[in-house]
Amino acid sequence: MIHEHRVLNPATEELVATVPATSAAEVSTAVTRAAAAQRTWAALAPADRARLLRRFAVLVDEHVERLARLEVTEAGHTLGNARWEAANVRDLLDYAAGGVERLTGRQIPVPGGIDITFLDPLGVVGVIAPWNFPMPVAAWGVAPALAAGNAVLLKPAETTPLTAQYLARLALEAGLPEHLLQVLPGAGDVTGRALVEHPGVAKIVFTGSTRVGKEIMAGCADRVKRLTLELGGKSPNIVFADADIETAAAAAPMSFLDNAGQDCCARTRILVQRSVYDRFLELLVPAVASVVVGDPSDEKTQMGPLISLAQLERVRGFVPEGADGIRGGAPTGPGFWFPPTVLTGIAPDAPVATEEIFGPVAVVLPFEDEDDAVRLADATDHGLAGSVWTRDVGRALRVSRAVRAGNLSVNSHSAVRYWTPFGGYKQSGLGRELGPDALAAFTETKNVFIGTEA
Ligand code: NAD
Repeated sequence: MIHEHRVLNPATEELVATVPATSAAEVSTAVTRAAAAQRTWAALAPADRARLLRRFAVLVDEHVERLARLEVTEAGHTLGNARWEAANVRDLLDYAAGGVERLTGRQIPVPGGIDITFLDPLGVVGVIAPWNFPMPVAAWGVAPALAAGNAVLLKPAETTPLTAQYLARLALEAGLPEHLLQVLPGAGDVTGRALVEHPGVAKIVFTGSTRVGKEIMAGCADRVKRLTLELGGKSPNIVFADADIETAAAAAPMSFLDNAGQDCCARTRILVQRSVYDRFLELLVPAVASVVVGDPSDEKTQMGPLISLAQLERVRGFVPEGADGIRGGAPTGPGFWFPPTVLTGIAPDAPVATEEIFGPVAVVLPFEDEDDAVRLADATDHGLAGSVWTRDVGRALRVSRAVRAGNLSVNSHSAVRYWTPFGGYKQSGLGRELGPDALAAFTETKNVFIGTEA
């Protein structure tokens, strides 16, 4: 069994920290402590819980730079991205805090009495986080779960436990009850599995690979445990001939190169209407070449390294030797670097065109008309996000409504805002996170009828 995890700087391969792994027995102790803390937490007046969460948000705000630097060091994110990510945690906490006093049930008209509903907290929630956005994705679960009156056990990815541990210290400093938010670093198949199997954990929120998501779903089925899954994507970027082609081509590179492509919403399938295909490619070449790849702690850098050697090898495995396409530059020497890559002449059903790679690799595929674009966009098991570029408002709406994916954007690649719902169709996930209903996903609805005739 692994007793500790080595955290490496992905840009230099230097050792940053070693972090002890949590055993199954330790998970069990953590669940008992969390259950006690949850009772204290849920018994507080809503305004007091909201105030403590806001204080937590203020502390995160004061530590944005420190958290961002930690993210750069352990995850290789660019400094600009890492600052946004830390600030996103602050905003998520603030937004969730605003929901505490608004988490109301309903009064439903019935004969012979009064019918009311309550939104009860679930109890102890397990959040299993990935390494691609260690801070925001953890907070997508942590913030609403706490706001709805739950305790949270957060298992960060093996490669990125440091920001999670830092955030848990800030929670304590803010005055949240001890053990309400505990971070349990460790291996997925030990610590993560123990959370899934523990009867004291009422819900699992998982973000990561489809393979592990399916395993977790099966594990939860055993106890009918509540579950939210966010399993990644293979999102289309659909460019119609009537679009502003210059703008669409200029925006395409960072829509799949941000975070070195390790983004579940990465627009890695660029679908271009055949009549503008050549023109689009001509414009794409300089756009890809201009992306600044290098030291993530440099303010000018747009793309850093991949997270690990394992991920680098996975990405290499997808790209056929000598494939046609466009390539950008990347540093050589230490670090897990892969150059920006756009492949052409790929069959639409090739693994590189249908499977999530999680690296800076996209394919360009031509399409004929609107129906063909939607058919190609849907020709994958994923359905998380997508973009539509057109000047025709009717077409923009038709195509956005037709594509089987949870998050569409028109003439833009924006996908994630903490106050709008996020989640996937098909094998991209189950349930929704963020948005106005985020807290409700961490509650159980109880219906009470009070007879007035007796
Ligand atoms: P993963 O699914 O193995 O890991 C994600 C999290 O799940 C980690 O915290 C891990 O420790 C935990 N985990 C692993 N096995 C578990 C188990 N049996 N029970 C409970 N928890 C478990 O992802 P990975 O191997 O780090 O990455 C592989 C691929 O997954 C990537 O290349 C990418 O395609 C995909 N991925 C997607 C996302 C996303 O945002 N959707 C995030 C990370 C990885």
